[in-house]
Amino acid sequence: MEFALTAEHEQIREAAYKFGQNVIVPSVGELDRQHTSDPETLKKLGEAGLLGLGIPAKWGGTDTDYISVGIACEELERADSTARVVMSVHVGLHCMTMMQWGTEEQCAKWLPDLATGKKIGAFGLTEPNAGSDAASMKTTARREGDEYVLNGEKTWISLADYADQFLVIARLAETDAKAPYAAFIVERDRPGFSSRAIKGKLGVRAGNTGQIFFDNVRIPASNMIGQEGDGFKVAMSALDHGRYTVAAGAVGIITACMDACCKYVNERSVQGEVIGKKQLVQQMIAKMARGRDIGRLLYYQVGWMKNTGKRHTREVSMAKWVNCEAAFEAANNAVEIHGAYGYCDEFPVERYFRNSRGAMIYEGTHEIHTIMQAEYALGYREDKPIARTLPTFPFA
Ligand SMILES: Cc1cc2nc3c(=O)[nH]c(=O)nc-3n(C[C@H](O)[C@H](O)[C@H](O)COP(=O)(O)OP(=O)(O)OC[C@H]3O[C@@H](n4cnc5c(N)ncnc54)[C@H](O)[C@@H]3O)c2cc1C
Repeated sequence: MEFALTAEHEQIREAAYKFGQNVIVPSVGELDRQHTSDPETLKKLGEAGLLGLGIPAKWGGTDTDYISVGIACEELERADSTARVVMSVHVGLHCMTMMQWGTEEQCAKWLPDLATGKKIGAFGLTEPNAGSDAASMKTTARREGDEYVLNGEKTWISLADYADQFLVIARLAETDAKAPYAAFIVERDRPGFSSRAIKGKLGVRAGNTGQIFFDNVRIPASNMIGQEGDGFKVAMSALDHGRYTVAAGAVGIITACMDACCKYVNERSVQGEVIGKKQLVQQMIAKMARGRDIGRLLYYQVGWMKNTGKRHTREVSMAKWVNCEAAFEAANNAVEIHGAYGYCDEFPVERYFRNSRGAMIYEGTHEIHTIMQAEYALGYREDKPIARTLPTFPFA
């Protein structure tokens, strides 16, 4: 068993850390306060090569492994969740799912622009009445000759207003397929497509989240990812990739809490000594360190499973569940440690608190992961091999 990261992993950590601290941190407080996102961030992430992580060079990527994706997510979320959300949605949910389920031609057509950030991808599964119960989705795709015609709406879609293309899961209107779902790439410029931002979010306020609408949107049949009937499997694979990025990012929130708290507890004094000397304060810091170290092991393991082509739905659910809870606990304790100062935006910890709460909802709520883990433990659920896996690393 090898625990060491490679020199390349360390370089990617350093590059993502510097990107986060130099590009994201200086403006994120104000953007968050104004509930505004900066589309330039997407361009800069692309220019920095971060959107090509985990993507083979033959498709325009950086030819780095999947652990690199996790490391970048961790360091970006140390700066702000919105930067990591871009990695989750674009690299995880969109590009990696295309790499798993797309044909060689589809990957060659779309990935080079995505890997370099010339185009941005997003993921549309959730609907107003279909979140945890995704099978209740109502968006339909109807075959007409060489095209599909999409109708319906998706909600809570990250990067809804900025993405150039969406991986959309829809119910097939008429099909002989056993499962009536399929996955499609829908480009923003297709007539009948529109989007609208969701206002008033608790967290990820410096990021764009919204609704997308399909009003007789025609797409070529060649835009289908997988076959008719594969849509649900494609969606679940996408969640395996998205959850991985969220799990890794959660470790970054914990580290950010530690960065803020370890400084503050050595500056703030009560009863003649710095609060870092108080055992109850130390207990909160120790729990953060515990969450960070366990969290890294959990997501590194999943990264290794991705590299080696192993199915990891159980392990990534565990990593996402454990790490997001640890991040929320860390952020809650970070507010506590800062006292009243933690309750205002003079310090970043209140933002970590609000952002970490969201990650316990998206990519499977706390309850959904609890149920999944119980079902695995009880033998009610097991991961069977699926027809398509991600390209294994090193890439051919
Ligand atoms: C910031 C943000 C970004 C998002 N980005 C995307 C995106 O890019 N693409 C996308 O497709 N979606 C996205 N989502 C949507 C997200 O995945 C859903 O919100 C999530 O799956 C939960 O669905 P829901 O909101 O409909 O809640 P519901 O499914 O209605 O759940 C409501 C409550 O019921 C509980 N519950 C549900 N089912 C069960 C059960 N079987 N047993 C016990 N309890 C249960 C839940 O745990 C929850 O507490 C995003 C959400 C947020 C907040």
